[in-house]
Amino acid sequence: MPYPKPTRRSWAEPFKIKVVEPLKTTTRQHRVEAIKEAGYNTFLLRSDDVYIDLLTDSGTNAMSDYQWAGMMLGDEAYAGSKNFYYLEANMRKYYGYKYLVPTHQGRGAEHIISQILIKQGDYIPGNMYFTTTREHQERAGGTFVDVIIDEAHDPESTYPFKGNVDLQKLEDLIKKVGARKIPYISVAATVNMAGGQPISMGNMKEIRKLTARHGIRIILDATRAVENAYFIRTREKGYEKKSIAAILKELCSYTDGATMSGKKDLLVNIGGFLAINDKDLFDEARNMVVVFEGLHTYGGLAGRDMEAMARGMEEMTKEDYVRSRIGQVEYLGQKLLDWEIPIVKPIGGHAVFLDAKKILEHIPQEKFPAQTLASEIYVDSGVRTMERGIVSAGRDSKTGENRHPKLELVRVTIPRRVYTQAHMDVTAESILEVYESRKKIRGLEMVYEPKHLRFFQARFDKA
Ligand SMILES: *Cc1c(COP(=O)(O)O)cnc(C)c1O
Repeated sequence: MPYPKPTRRSWAEPFKIKVVEPLKTTTRQHRVEAIKEAGYNTFLLRSDDVYIDLLTDSGTNAMSDYQWAGMMLGDEAYAGSKNFYYLEANMRKYYGYKYLVPTHQGRGAEHIISQILIKQGDYIPGNMYFTTTREHQERAGGTFVDVIIDEAHDPESTYPFKGNVDLQKLEDLIKKVGARKIPYISVAATVNMAGGQPISMGNMKEIRKLTARHGIRIILDATRAVENAYFIRTREKGYEKKSIAAILKELCSYTDGATMSGKKDLLVNIGGFLAINDKDLFDEARNMVVVFEGLHTYGGLAGRDMEAMARGMEEMTKEDYVRSRIGQVEYLGQKLLDWEIPIVKPIGGHAVFLDAKKILEHIPQEKFPAQTLASEIYVDSGVRTMERGIVSAGRDSKTGENRHPKLELVRVTIPRRVYTQAHMDVTAESILEVYESRKKIRGLEMVYEPKHLRFFQARFDKA
């Protein structure tokens, strides 16, 4: 039979490979032992025992030759490094905020803004929680309140902007606790825990209108705002012809500041920042960063790292890059959809999320279906993924009870510019293999539970 002709023209990675890092393959027996030793927690595997590492897109990016060249231009002065000023200029150019405080990574910025703005007894609404973000809000004495639209909690819903804030929920909270108890709303673009789902520009404008009436700030989690901008361009009326850079800047313009994990959109291995428009808040943040991170012109980073971030900002907004980035995630997700494997729809920006609740429907949530699925995929092929379900959700800070999230997912996360389409094929085939033998899979029990952000270090055994 002749090979079928393509029905569409393909895109390809807008780069070629200059340096390679060999991958290691292992035997199934080796992996059975490795995952047992790791307490069935993929975070506790040694990366040497991993074949294709889809644990996270955080800090796992491949830098360009332009960024590596910039690393040699690191100005490692303790104070006033020229790389800081370049980063500050590019942050203003691409994000549009007035002031910059560099931090070692995103959570450093979350810590500072939470400590500055949150008082004991405050409420912080947000479009679904993120693990480190909520932890810092709670440590500062706040209570996180989820105000994302209901569609976000339904893996089957194909609503194009599942990251949107439900304005009614936000308004109800303001009525209930009063605007003075809400220092800011934490708005993420895209929403990681919902499956990398975007928020629309229209929704952001509405949030601005509502919060402006009540004097409530908006702090953007801009970690993947570039990927969000791409979805706005492809899904929202009026933005079809706008550039990614223009959309990103417009999105930020409706907010008062941002926390940023440079390890995602900025195409680097380490770094982050806090950006803010208010001069007084900036002064406070700049003072606080010296206590926890480092002087305000390096915030825990080497000069060379700030240079790589500044250059990453120039590359992240390039049209061909963003298209191939999201295109690769879509390629993997579409393969799984074609085989009718349950995943979160629509396919997100940085990862494909497997619906573990559905795939392992015979395993109750107390037996950790997503944790189980991630460990089974590792044993099958050495592909490393991550649990995003009941383990990640942790315990309620007041009652101490397990939180039971509606979404019980395994995140298959794609690092930027690192793997090829062939790696996606191998990954998809391994997931299919595990899916087909799902009936034989048993759950897990937790045998060690750390106090903070338990998913990182918890240990399990076969139930
Ligand atoms: C990774 C991440 C953070 C935290 O950033 P780190 O650099 O890992 O400290 C915050 N929010 C979101 C949405 C993230 O994905």
